[in-house]
Amino acid sequence: MSKEELEKREDEEVETNDDNQRRRRRRPIRRGQLKCPLCTAGIKEVSYKDIYQLKKYVTVKGKIIPTVKTGVCSRHQRQLTREIKRARQLALMPYVAKDI
Ligand SMILES: [Zn+2]
Repeated sequence: MSKEELEKREDEEVETNDDNQRRRRRRPIRRGQLKCPLCTAGIKEVSYKDIYQLKKYVTVKGKIIPTVKTGVCSRHQRQLTREIKRARQLALMPYVAKDI
């Protein structure tokens, strides 16, 4: 193994340690370990009619949760965004919800 490779490895280790310390409070699961829940469930198309499914991907206030937090793949995230916006227009879901 060359010196450069060794140095790279050391750098990576240091970085991951830093990341763990920084993320421990907010996000115990790292992004790389998350798998798209919709892909694993075998869902090909998300529908605006399936509110119970869509509700998992919005906050209490009705905002769409970003991929980083849910682990949804880009394809499904795009579908979700489209379908949530459709559901909002049809008044199936709220644009904004009041504080609890
Ligand atoms: Zn997916």
